Amino acid sequence: MSGGGDDRVVVVGHPLVRHKLGLLRDRTTTTRDFRALMGELGAFLCYEATRELEVEPARVETPLATAAAWRVSGKKLGVVAVLRAGMGMLDAVLALVPVARVGFVGLYRDEQTLQPVEYYCKLPGDLAERDVLVLDPMLATGGSAAAALRMCRERGARRLSLLSVVAAPEGIARVRTSHPDVTIYTCAVDDGLNADGYILPGLGDAGDRLYGTR
Ligand code: URA
Repeated sequence: MSGGGDDRVVVVGHPLVRHKLGLLRDRTTTTRDFRALMGELGAFLCYEATRELEVEPARVETPLATAAAWRVSGKKLGVVAVLRAGMGMLDAVLALVPVARVGFVGLYRDEQTLQPVEYYCKLPGDLAERDVLVLDPMLATGGSAAAALRMCRERGARRLSLLSVVAAPEGIARVRTSHPDVTIYTCAVDDGLNADGYILPGLGDAGDRLYGTR
């Protein structure tokens, strides 16, 4: 499942993930189906990214008897959605971890410098005590993801993972360089970027396809 011998890049190759990713890429997929698929793939990535969560033994009463059970223990989770496409994964992730605290980061690309510029940042105050999942479905140049990770770090986050549905090698390299301790979970590593910074073959503009804008 890990990609290219780098255990900090986890490519989730489950058959259902590959099937759904094909549908997500398809230009004829409707906005409604695109939103559903983005959520489902986000849930698969979250499932993988939370695989190492600590659990402790517990006991519960079933209607018939006492049963051994497990409870998630240790660090709590924080989820940070990078606006706007990260919103497409958020509800599905929260369905799996409803007690997670949620933050939002908004960035736009400066047309002159091509660098990400922060326009919104609202993060939980106790990020230092949480394992943080950053949701950024398209890891293209990596500029936004690296900036979002940095913003989380500046607020104290120490254990961070990045969940990207599709990743370009350029984006992976950028995040590996600036945040070498961050594990990237993705459904596919694509070929590269076009001149406008879109992932090829990718799926187009994820925000537009999620919300029906153009
Ligand atoms: N953002 C997108 O929505 N799509 C890409 O291909 C790259 C960045």
